[in-house]
Amino acid sequence: MHDHKFTDAAAVRSFVLGGNALFTVRSEATGTRFTYKVRASEPDTSGTRKSAGVFFVSLLSGSSNEEDFSYLGIIPKDDPLTFRLTVKSRAGEQAQSVVAFRWFWKQIMAGRLPGSMSVWHEGRCGRCGRTLTVPESIASGFGPECIQHV
Ligand SMILES: [Zn+2]
Repeated sequence: MHDHKFTDAAAVRSFVLGGNALFTVRSEATGTRFTYKVRASEPDTSGTRKSAGVFFVSLLSGSSNEEDFSYLGIIPKDDPLTFRLTVKSRAGEQAQSVVAFRWFWKQIMAGRLPGSMSVWHEGRCGRCGRTLTVPESIASGFGPECIQHV
């Protein structure tokens, strides 16, 4: 697996909200790292509770099993500044992974990528999950077709 470091906050924001994003946030001070998955739900246009849909945030909880994710919370599509836990969250507000994500997302949505944290993707498109090959795609985190949709 090859990891690629993002160099600006706007690219991180686009990637996280790409629909199918897998990325790692690392504290440069402590070396602590968490790998998150952020997936878009389908818009809910049925019934009386119409909504634009949400992004589901989960945490890679196993050390080697890429399928071992714990659900953490949501980012509403129509209110992307907000990250919040729900009744099904498998970690509380005090969990390090939740605190770290909240801080990370606040920085990114403020347009900041502080030197005290780094954000990495694994060479897979943030929208469709396919392996990225060309340098421009690896820099943005999106394949040539998907980048036109984000
Ligand atoms: Zn793609």
